[in-house]
Amino acid sequence: MQEEIIYLDHNATTPLDPRVLEAMMPYFTNLYANAASNHRPGVEASRAVKSAREKIASLIGSDPSEVIFTSGATEAINTAIKGVLEFYKEKGAHIVTVSTEHPAVLDTCKYLESKGVEVTYLPVDQYGIVDLVEVEKAIRTDTALVSVMLVNNETGVIQPINEIAELAHQKDAFFMTDATQAVGKMPVNVKEMNIDIMAFSAHKFYGPKGVGGLYLRSKRPFKVKLDALIHGGGHERGARSGTLNVPGIVGLGAAAEIALQEMKSDQEKIKELRDQLERTFLEMSDTVLNGHPTNRLYNVSNICFKGADADAIIAGLDNIAVSNGSACSSTKVEPSHVLTAMGLNEQDAYSSLRFSLGRFSTHSDINNCASTIGATVNILRTLII
Ligand SMILES: *Cc1c(COP(=O)(O)O)cnc(C)c1O
Repeated sequence: MQEEIIYLDHNATTPLDPRVLEAMMPYFTNLYANAASNHRPGVEASRAVKSAREKIASLIGSDPSEVIFTSGATEAINTAIKGVLEFYKEKGAHIVTVSTEHPAVLDTCKYLESKGVEVTYLPVDQYGIVDLVEVEKAIRTDTALVSVMLVNNETGVIQPINEIAELAHQKDAFFMTDATQAVGKMPVNVKEMNIDIMAFSAHKFYGPKGVGGLYLRSKRPFKVKLDALIHGGGHERGARSGTLNVPGIVGLGAAAEIALQEMKSDQEKIKELRDQLERTFLEMSDTVLNGHPTNRLYNVSNICFKGADADAIIAGLDNIAVSNGSACSSTKVEPSHVLTAMGLNEQDAYSSLRFSLGRFSTHSDINNCASTIGATVNILRTLII
């Protein structure tokens, strides 16, 4: 990233922490062996993978053997949803999820609907939070999987997943969470949170792109089995074949280790900057916060600048990177499905920007962003009138 860019799009991806890059480097050069080979360099590579598995396991409170490495959260989500529905087809072919999930979950569910699986998409309230009464009503005896994200990528809103997991388990359904925006940024403990299946991704917490993982509970009563999506060689206990991405996995481990040590100090620093930015925007006329004011991750602020088009705001900025909704659907011209599910009309959804801060954000980034965006919004509003 060029020096002059003010990067406030950490929910799309984060920069690689220099310490993570340093940890990865030897595995691109001297230590290139295949982790499945039984010669000495192979054993060394396999040790590095083992150590990374232990680091991610301590970050999420699992056993190392419960972690499957994948190419990222999208693959982890596809593996889990398709694999569980296939393996447990005798139990039923029904999924419960939420309308504000990431496209990785929603599009996988849509695909399965075309194959005869039934999917219930739960609504959310004005804050983006799902109603537990609705969850309970939706889960049936033939529900195989309940999948609800922990932190929303567009608003940062946190769902009550402990309670949802409890409701799923009462009907013998597995509880899965897409925790891609949570892992590495807030404390996540799969045991305390009663999670059976969880997806995460390195590039959302200062690790490299193209690597992530899946937690699959191995202890009764909710031991998860699945049919693999990718066959060939039986790597990752048969759940995901293919030569392991050793540098990527080492990077994921390094990012997990740093997150565990620095999560608390990151949170304090980032929250202060986020709150400052948010206050400045909310002091402007006709601005509204999208999402719950408190039940929300500390690094995100999603603001509706009424009467100013988000694309036009972004076009007016050449050194500030922010997002109009989610980057994953940036090729589509539809308004954010998350904001419309929360009851925003199309115009307000089109006038909303997501600011997501990170470990390397500074006071000057925030001051600069607040004044530039404020001025741009004011100009656009005058043009409209
Ligand atoms: C980024 C993201 C994903 C996709 O992760 P990849 O590793 O890029 O495939 C899935 N879910 C959420 C909530 C995300 O923010």
